[in-house]
Amino acid sequence: MNKIAHIAVIGSCSVDFCTYSPKLPSPGETVIGVKFTTSYGGKGANQCVAAAKLGGKSHMICRLGDDQWGHQYKKHFQENGVDIQNVHIMSNVATGIAQIAVSEKGENQIVIVPGANNYLSIDDVHNASELITSAEILIGQLETPLKPTLEAFKLNKGIKLLNAAPVRADAVEILPYCTILCVNEPEASTLSGINVGSVDEAADAIKRLLKMGCQMVIITLGENGALYASQNETKLIHVLCDPVNAVDTTGAGDAFVGALATFLVTYKDRPIHQIIGAACEVATISVTKEGTQTSYPTNYRPFGREY
Ligand code: ATP
Repeated sequence: MNKIAHIAVIGSCSVDFCTYSPKLPSPGETVIGVKFTTSYGGKGANQCVAAAKLGGKSHMICRLGDDQWGHQYKKHFQENGVDIQNVHIMSNVATGIAQIAVSEKGENQIVIVPGANNYLSIDDVHNASELITSAEILIGQLETPLKPTLEAFKLNKGIKLLNAAPVRADAVEILPYCTILCVNEPEASTLSGINVGSVDEAADAIKRLLKMGCQMVIITLGENGALYASQNETKLIHVLCDPVNAVDTTGAGDAFVGALATFLVTYKDRPIHQIIGAACEVATISVTKEGTQTSYPTNYRPFGREY
């Protein structure tokens, strides 16, 4: 490999099957739906595609099943400019899926079958060791087994960005290897043990999480932007985002993480509060459109404004 990889993402891919119906079915009940959509998801893939759409050189390290969805997902990655050298299709296991039912009231029921995602292994990390070691940024989440992600974080010599979602208590093991921990409020609550329901409580959680070994902690606050601090600069900074009419907030956190990685690599001279502000802008754009990966902007150029 003669080029330095900018962004490597280790994590999950899943296909989301979403039904919309007037009400959710009770056990044993059949209801007639009004709409059905199929879309590409999985936190790892969302973040990788978000980064690629913004011009980041992104590489995905993941497992898919040897079924129609696995092959289609691989093609989808290529169409979105993601390097697929470490996207493995495995036999006898299904591609990860999420079956989502949404009612008119906006309630949902979700069944996730991780499938191939559960088989991401330390061997996959070692097979991609050159990429993982040299990537300027390595992104991980928690939808795939923790050990391979931990191993990858130990190998990487660049910026290690963990989006600790879906949160699990044993993730604290990986925190000392994180250059940046990015979490939403419930995730920050679980990891820090501080119930985060306000900006002040988020500030307390950040202080606690910094003590647990992360070099920088960012808590995303939905429409209230993001709050961060680091070991070097312990003063808490609150980056606000523009108010918008949110249409669909699914995957906003993944848009934020992918954008953060791309902008950190692309705009190395910019101060971190501007980079986080720009990542908020991308995530905010994503909530104004329906869908997950389809709502992420392409070739968005930040810094049209000052923070
Ligand atoms: P998800 O689980 O849906 O991917 P999340 O809970 O991980 O999202 P949030 O903290 O809700 O992440 O949002 C991430 C970022 O998205 C925020 O920091 C903000 O920039 C943007 N965002 C989310 N909701 C809104 C909103 N209603 N208006 C404007 N921006 C938003």
